[in-house]
Amino acid sequence: MRILQKCYEPSLYDALREIGMYTYFQRVDECGEAVARIGGHEVVMCGSNNYLGLTHHEDVQAAAIDAIGRYGTGSAGSRFLNGNLALHEELEEELSAFVGMPAALSFPSGYQTNLGVLSAMADARDHVVLDKFAHASMVDGTMLSRAKIARFAHNSAASLDEKLTRIGGDAGAMVLVDGVYSMDGDIADLVPISETCRRHDAVLMVDDAHGIGVLAGGRGTCAQLGVQPDLVTVTFSKALASLGGAILGDRRVIDHIRHTSRAMIFTTGASPADAAAALAALRVLKAEPWRCERVLKLSDQLRSELRAMGLAVIGDGTPILGVEVIDPAAGETELLIKTQDIHKQLIGLGVYTNPVGPPAASCRLRLTLSAAHTDQHLDVVTAAFGKVAGLIGQRW
Ligand code: PMP
Repeated sequence: MRILQKCYEPSLYDALREIGMYTYFQRVDECGEAVARIGGHEVVMCGSNNYLGLTHHEDVQAAAIDAIGRYGTGSAGSRFLNGNLALHEELEEELSAFVGMPAALSFPSGYQTNLGVLSAMADARDHVVLDKFAHASMVDGTMLSRAKIARFAHNSAASLDEKLTRIGGDAGAMVLVDGVYSMDGDIADLVPISETCRRHDAVLMVDDAHGIGVLAGGRGTCAQLGVQPDLVTVTFSKALASLGGAILGDRRVIDHIRHTSRAMIFTTGASPADAAAALAALRVLKAEPWRCERVLKLSDQLRSELRAMGLAVIGDGTPILGVEVIDPAAGETELLIKTQDIHKQLIGLGVYTNPVGPPAASCRLRLTLSAAHTDQHLDVVTAAFGKVAGLIGQRW
């Protein structure tokens, strides 16, 4: 029973609950495309990944309902044996053609995609080199693969070069980066990173969960920077308004993953409603490219307004804004409590943000915008931040 002991020891979460500052697993009572009802407050939702506002688009909802009628509520088995729906294949074909990669394979979640791909692609003889801030799902997938792990300094091609030189060209290396980093909202420096990979004959995999559907008219970070990686991860849970993920790459590579990935073979295919919603969202994205432009324009506008208040806003050119909470006199826990407190005050002022702290990142209020936000929603956000700006603190 020693294994259970840790569950009964006092935790940070207990401490936060005791002082009324526990804000995780926040119950959402109702959720529209841009506004939600949380804890009795109507809030402008600035904490979701619904970048294009498609979760409530009538075509997307109708496609999900229609898929339930045609296929039922579940795909009822592994795609390997019986759960491979025409919908999964249509989605894969349209997605790979749109992003400009030869083939795609979809999984039931983005997390599972990275787990399934890395455990199928790398083994104990290989080296996997990850950006220091690469997403947890790629870290976990690498651990599952048993490959040797190295990390390079965030977005530094020089640091990557040093790691790959140490590994040596013949050893077999795979380099993992995010396209857009979900905490800092910054874009990967893919041109020198890709060039470094080519020089060392290393495979480059880009997790573009937050770039696909947003950057370069939705084609993602690699299209924006003119880079051709070997593998790209896509999630359907963000701009594509659903649940699921896919890996895009060369046909033979995708076929290898299809037949060797345990996270593909030993799980049920994505539900018909999820696959249909993602496919419909992809079609809306193609038909309505203004959505990508709108979310980026709103994000730039809000970033400028918050910076004009003297707030330290991390990230540029993406819909993710990190407003740093700064108090040189506060220790780590105090700063986290302060972040939770401001987050709660913002809910009272009609704005939902994500309170973030260690170990995920330094203390900040993370905002994500959507093409469904109106100018009036943005006014509510700026007015609310104006009221708490003194508490958030400034860099100078
Ligand atoms: N990769 C990145 C970069 C992510 O931000 C996320 C989700 N936060 C995932 C993968 C996992 O995607 P999903 O939520 O679809 O499992």
